[in-house]
Amino acid sequence: MKKILLIIPFLIAGLYTNAQTNTYQKDSIVIAKMQGYILENSVCYEDLRVLCKTIGNRISGSDAAAKAVEWGKLALRNAGADKVYLQPVMVPHWVRGIEEFAITTKAGKKQAFHPLGLGNTIGTSADGISNDVIEVRNMEELEKLGIENINGKIVFFNHPWNQHVSNPFNEYGNSVYYRWAGPSLAAKFGATACLIRSAGSGYDDFAHTGSMRYDSNFKKIPAMALSYKEANELEKLLRANNVAKGMLLSTSHFEADVLSYNVIGEINGSDLKDEIITVGGHLDSWDIGEGAHDDGAGCVQSIEVIRAMKKMGIKPRRTVRCVLFMNEENGLKGGNEYARLAVELKEKHICAIETDAGGFSPRGFSMSCSKAHRAKIQSWKKLFYPLGVYDFDEEGGGADIGPLHKNLGTPVMELSPDPQRYFDLHHTANDVFEQVNRRELSMGALVLASMVYMIGEYGLE
Ligand SMILES: [Zn+2]
Repeated sequence: MKKILLIIPFLIAGLYTNAQTNTYQKDSIVIAKMQGYILENSVCYEDLRVLCKTIGNRISGSDAAAKAVEWGKLALRNAGADKVYLQPVMVPHWVRGIEEFAITTKAGKKQAFHPLGLGNTIGTSADGISNDVIEVRNMEELEKLGIENINGKIVFFNHPWNQHVSNPFNEYGNSVYYRWAGPSLAAKFGATACLIRSAGSGYDDFAHTGSMRYDSNFKKIPAMALSYKEANELEKLLRANNVAKGMLLSTSHFEADVLSYNVIGEINGSDLKDEIITVGGHLDSWDIGEGAHDDGAGCVQSIEVIRAMKKMGIKPRRTVRCVLFMNEENGLKGGNEYARLAVELKEKHICAIETDAGGFSPRGFSMSCSKAHRAKIQSWKKLFYPLGVYDFDEEGGGADIGPLHKNLGTPVMELSPDPQRYFDLHHTANDVFEQVNRRELSMGALVLASMVYMIGEYGLE
């Protein structure tokens, strides 16, 4: 009896290992099938070219964003989605106007810069703002100078990007603070306008924009960014005490909210169709460049998940829903509306995956979910190693699917591509189609499709 009791666990372990091996073989065959299709025949790179070159940048509320909605609908239909539909949502419409910044040197010479307004900034009066410029490197310096030194001046937040940090996403979190909150922090001390050194990693002439938020306790002041090179130039002039005055002009403003849409395409699940897996990126972009990496790449990769499954005849057990979210960049209205409707319709969302970190070589998935969910995903790691994907440890999840996680507790994940070049390009005029590599973009689509397939087959419970 004792002998038999000792043998049973080995028998069970043996059966379990066999079952796992069989599953592994079956799944690796499916993934290899998608690999052949996506890496050789995928049209996601061509989809991206059409989006970038025929529509271009597409800030929420713009005519280009409306065209992008039509593009997304057609691309999902062409990918073979069982159902394609739009989810209406009202979005803000911020319009960039004329933007100027110049200084007059102590010798009376005028020197013009090429500023880029921060997203959502107000403009100036028609005469612009003409005042002293004062440099601060961080919040501590601003507070030390205090209202007596700041009042009435143009504050230049000269916070440098810390190149020591190995993962640029971590440094973005530090730098972006001055973009997001800087203008109101400066206004608190009486500043009349705010300039920031770009919150990006590039050593170039491309200024970096992105959302800022006004604190309603303080006066709204106009805010602009300078590129790395121009921030160095202004720093040099200020430290040489060679700036007599700064002149800043902007006609940027908000117009009335506009009706727009999340674009959705689905593959119906076979036997568990009520269980939904969302995979998506955001369709809107900033109003410069072409929104190629941010986030045209994520949109075409998500569409590719649908296409690869349909073309390969893969029938997911659960419903796979590709969502091209609207207004991630300056309002998150699309993501919020998607989650609101999910609650209202009592939908069962078992997982949501976003791809919004650039179309570079995939390295892993970050996730926000329970330990058990993470353990299940990590048990599939071996399937991803041949694709160069090994990192399943980080916390994360995308902005658009954040409300789903918050309101429904949905486990969320984000594709993590190699991060080293993203912040050289992101939110700049240099985020164009030519910066995206076909092979890297397709590898991201393949890894995404593989993960969606696994969750479609086995769920996360
Ligand atoms: Zn983005």
